[in-house]
Amino acid sequence: MKGSKCRCGFATVARRVWCPRCGKQMKPDEWQNEGRVLSFTQLQAVPEGLSDPYNLALVAVEKGPKLVCWTSGTLKENDEVSITEINGKYLCSLKAPLSFELKDDGLRA
Ligand SMILES: [Zn+2]
Repeated sequence: MKGSKCRCGFATVARRVWCPRCGKQMKPDEWQNEGRVLSFTQLQAVPEGLSDPYNLALVAVEKGPKLVCWTSGTLKENDEVSITEINGKYLCSLKAPLSFELKDDGLRA
């Protein structure tokens, strides 16, 4: 994902020229579409137009911004998630766990 980052550490997915935190000039930056869950909120009321119970997770992207992401599953703090942007909304889902183990004799399924 793309956005802007400031030397003070503030990052956002919005294209901004000036940092809202310190007022200095921000630079375009790019991050991986994955992060770690900081907090998770289960919505009690389903928003209009959505049939599934959706939940919200605050996700920290490494070296990047913190994003509020929709998720259809249940997440907990420190879960690693992949993030997808759809029409300006961010959705996250649990990153698939690695399906192999590293053994002395190499990779094994
Ligand atoms: Zn700044």
